[in-house]
Amino acid sequence: MKTIDCGDLRSDHEGQEVTLAGWVDRRRDHGNLIFIDLRDRSGIVQAVFNPDLHPEPHDLAGQVRSEWVIQVSGRVTRRSDETINPNLPTGEVEVAVESMAVLNESKTPPFYVNEESDVDELLRLKYRYLDLRRPKMRDMLVMRHRAVKFIRDFLSERGFLDVETPILIKSTPEGARDYLVPSRLYPGKFYALPQSPQQLKQLLMAAGVEKYFQIAKCFRDEDPRGDRQPEFTQLDLEMSFVDEDDILDLIEELYTAMFETLVPDRRVLQKPFPRIPYAEAMARYASDRPDIRYGLEMSDLGETVKDSDFRVFQSVLAGGGIVKGFAAPGLADMPRRQLDDLVEFAKRSGAQGLVYIVLSADAPSIDDLTEEHIKSPVAKFLSVDVVKEMARKTGANPGDLLLIIAGPAKSTNVALDALRREMARRLELADPNVLAFAFIVDFPLFDWNEDEGRWDSPHHPFTAPKGGHEVIDSDPGAALSKSYDLVCNGMEAGGGSIRIHQRAMQSRIFEILGYSEEETEARFKQLLDAFEYGTPPHGGIATGIERLIMLLLNVDSIREVVAFPKTQSFIDPLFEAPDMVDDDQLAELHIRTTE
Ligand code: ASP
Repeated sequence: MKTIDCGDLRSDHEGQEVTLAGWVDRRRDHGNLIFIDLRDRSGIVQAVFNPDLHPEPHDLAGQVRSEWVIQVSGRVTRRSDETINPNLPTGEVEVAVESMAVLNESKTPPFYVNEESDVDELLRLKYRYLDLRRPKMRDMLVMRHRAVKFIRDFLSERGFLDVETPILIKSTPEGARDYLVPSRLYPGKFYALPQSPQQLKQLLMAAGVEKYFQIAKCFRDEDPRGDRQPEFTQLDLEMSFVDEDDILDLIEELYTAMFETLVPDRRVLQKPFPRIPYAEAMARYASDRPDIRYGLEMSDLGETVKDSDFRVFQSVLAGGGIVKGFAAPGLADMPRRQLDDLVEFAKRSGAQGLVYIVLSADAPSIDDLTEEHIKSPVAKFLSVDVVKEMARKTGANPGDLLLIIAGPAKSTNVALDALRREMARRLELADPNVLAFAFIVDFPLFDWNEDEGRWDSPHHPFTAPKGGHEVIDSDPGAALSKSYDLVCNGMEAGGGSIRIHQRAMQSRIFEILGYSEEETEARFKQLLDAFEYGTPPHGGIATGIERLIMLLLNVDSIREVVAFPKTQSFIDPLFEAPDMVDDDQLAELHIRTTE
């Protein structure tokens, strides 16, 4: 129905007869002449209807409205110099229409497709097919396509096989709840949707595939929070005969090449990506997904304050907690109200309180600090020497604001991380054009689950330990794992590990994690069996495709990078899912609902 796309027309086409088809982006009546901005996926071109030359299409053009679908034929003509539109790639030409057909009409859309105006998100999702017509969303779809294609090409060139794995499987633990699919044929039995293809990709290594990848859908029935979607997409990959560095080098090469190709204007901060041990990340940034575009690094102040008169610090340290803080440069003149806000912010982030110390810019140097230069609600409990030492440790200068939190390590780090991000936001330290990738390595193999009194796997139970049986048997809490995360600009962009490939070690890990033998047998038999038939050493990683597109396009919401996302409360407003089903359907599935 068309000989060329609207957005492709250039002055080279002058004089050609073309046929175009697309949507009416905008119509303007200028006395005699009618102008229609005709839009298809490629862009917009101006069509001109002249009643003196071609009265019929001109009459028809007078009736069309925004978003009608039309087909026009005519000659490409060069616009006169005054009417060239430098804002449009096709702006040097227009099409003088000789004939026109209406392919479909459109009701007045519930929002302007031709404007980047703010539209209620629910409305956008309900009419997603209209929302996706907008250039910004089209560009997102294009970027997502290009990124996935880049990945496919890159990995294919390196000998990876794209293998599809089933969606109807049995639960594989990634730490979330499973989505279940009732079986009609086997009453009372269920499939689970994969939280990831983890065991399947390991079985592909047992199968001798050696290099596997997949753009894989994952399903996790978690509570709606923040920027989650119940289903999402991963670049999932696995390799045999590799160690950590092989996987990290590959991902680094892939991500660097991809960002440099797809967003050449953005800057990858550091190559090679820094590899930061987990313990160091926690110490310096209070986070295992630090934003390293800026400093604001943490210092442990426990040693400095342990003899101070401040009771709060004393009791926290006595209880095994930590006292940690950082300097916010140049914020000594922050008004009292804002300081109070910061205290509230820290509390909302899980801290019991926040100690701030204002270091007056009047002090010639930290060594010259006197009482007059120090303002803090707790100043009377802290000697000048203690404050000086804190300033030295955190690298503070006169004119800075010291922010300190004391409490149990876990919640204190969470609050400090939130505060660090908040201060970076206020100080505008995070350059949006910079991409600061890093790998976090050397995670602990186990995490103590306080509530349930047992060990958990921070990654998943298939992760290989650093060292052998001796290490995990003597002190599980001190064992490190061969797992790694890819982080960028403060987001976790992916994670993976070298796996266990021997039955004895895998069984031992399940045992430490408190799985009974029956449970292990029921859930992991297939994998443990495979380990007994020559499974090679292997490892892999999965990186989030949505996170990747968010980074590429610099957008904050996951819903902006998915064609048909669910809302924040996991509703699909377009199909109105989830929905009730017929009683017959339920009966067939042997299901009776209780509410
Ligand atoms: N399956 C893991 C995940 O989805 C990634 C991996 O270990 O490769 O997080």
